[in-house]
Amino acid sequence: MTHHHREVDEVRTADVVVVGSGVSGSAAAMTAARAGARVALLEKQETFGGSAALSAGMFWTAPSVDAYRARIPLGDLALGTRLVEDYEDALAELRASGVRVADEPKRDIMTFGVGYSTDIRAILAWCRAEVVAAGGEARTGTAVVELLDDGRTVTGVVAREADGRLVRYDAPAVVLTTGGFQGARDELTRHIGPNADRLLLRSNPGSVGDGLRLARAAGAGGTTAMSTFYGHLIGHPVNRFEPQDFLPSSQYYSGSTVFVNLRGERFVDETQGDELLNQAVTFQPEARGVLIFDDHVRRTEGTEEPFPGLGTIDRFALAVEAGATHAVADTLEELVDAVASWGIDRGNLAATLELYTEVAGAGGGVARGIPVASGARAPQTGPFYALMVQPSITFTFGGIRTNADGEALDHDGRPVPGLYAAGADIGGLSNYGYAGGLAPGYITGRWAGASAAARAVGTAAAAEGRSADPVEGRPAAATRALAGAHR
Ligand SMILES: Cc1cc2nc3c(=O)[nH]c(=O)nc-3n(C[C@H](O)[C@H](O)[C@H](O)COP(=O)(O)OP(=O)(O)OC[C@H]3O[C@@H](n4cnc5c(N)ncnc54)[C@H](O)[C@@H]3O)c2cc1C
Repeated sequence: MTHHHREVDEVRTADVVVVGSGVSGSAAAMTAARAGARVALLEKQETFGGSAALSAGMFWTAPSVDAYRARIPLGDLALGTRLVEDYEDALAELRASGVRVADEPKRDIMTFGVGYSTDIRAILAWCRAEVVAAGGEARTGTAVVELLDDGRTVTGVVAREADGRLVRYDAPAVVLTTGGFQGARDELTRHIGPNADRLLLRSNPGSVGDGLRLARAAGAGGTTAMSTFYGHLIGHPVNRFEPQDFLPSSQYYSGSTVFVNLRGERFVDETQGDELLNQAVTFQPEARGVLIFDDHVRRTEGTEEPFPGLGTIDRFALAVEAGATHAVADTLEELVDAVASWGIDRGNLAATLELYTEVAGAGGGVARGIPVASGARAPQTGPFYALMVQPSITFTFGGIRTNADGEALDHDGRPVPGLYAAGADIGGLSNYGYAGGLAPGYITGRWAGASAAARAVGTAAAAEGRSADPVEGRPAAATRALAGAHR
């Protein structure tokens, strides 16, 4: 923690400061405001919403704790359990707010999840309106650059406004929701290795690890999952990759292809799904791979919308238009010739495809040490296609250590007084396997917002001479009321 005091241009006060206005920050701010806290919701960029505002709006997670454990065996079970338990209540809260939430669930999201399509921008706007209605504020162009403490507890933040002015916020509770460290190239390289340099950034540009750095400086610990992350395969090369390209250029159908590296060899069970293949290829030579598939895959999964609202798009054609290296041929043999001309070993690739076809035809098994799933289908109806792809990163799975009440923890597992975190800033909820982004962000934001408000209300009560809970340092009645409100 830092004990010196910067010269600031202005001092403001709040009960709870929330750092970052994506889905987790918005939910934390809304929850704290509804619990009676005066909230300052601070956003670094000129617009609110972070990656959430760029997202597809699918509000989903694991349908059960068993499903969470099966898909994410390396995940933090305490966090995963409460996430699944809280999902229905969070969904009911969204429906009650009046924002659009689909009536019918979508199943098998990312192979196993269940969720509902939402108007995510309306959800973010509703959260901000709740903050303002409770006497709080929501500001853009305000980057938190430092956490303050009195040697014992967090006491506020220093923020830099767009014009360079420094503002101090005195507050008994601070929630970090800066959206992960995918934009911090040094941190990515440290955890992922040199191929991190080849990850396309498929995220809002403001999530550069500020939350993790601030939390570490305040004594918080880190988690597992530091080298795992969410993203999707994108054609390579790509001549433009702006936020409006993030959804249409994602090759969601890769689970139905044969995926080889630049040696012409498979390295992963493709049916694990695109967000896992995206991570696996990152650790292959040059972090490049080639998707090989047939016309049936191109016309079905390669074109259908993965979620309602994304529209039907011929994703192969769009990748080609954007500059990707590709081949089309009437026979698999001609396709192999074309791919070999890119410098990929012809013999290896031909042998890989031959063995894959044989093992898939026999109902699955193992081919050269790599599983072929029982449902795998070999390319069989021409024309045949090959597409060079590269990985992208939307957010990191490792981060600040927290408990299932949103409290930041030190390396000994003790709460850092006054510090909370949520969303992509916390670590371990997803780990290689992916439990969703929006619903986990919203739900963990509620945990942090409720805990932060309980502390702030307690601190205010103590200052006014009311009796505080001697153990928790906050009034027992307020703690109970909040626990009732968010469970
Ligand atoms: C194209 C795309 C589609 C997606 N679709 C889905 C989907 O359909 N379903 C799903 O579940 N997930 C989806 N996701 C993932 C989802 O958007 C993220 O998981 C989620 O937004 C993370 O929430 P967050 O609040 O932690 O971070 P974010 O929403 O990214 O917000 C973080 C915010 O913090 C701000 N910030 C950073 N540092 C500071 C600082 N120092 N001071 C002040 N502010 C700061 C950033 O500028 C940013 O606005 C998608 C993501 C993308 C990019």
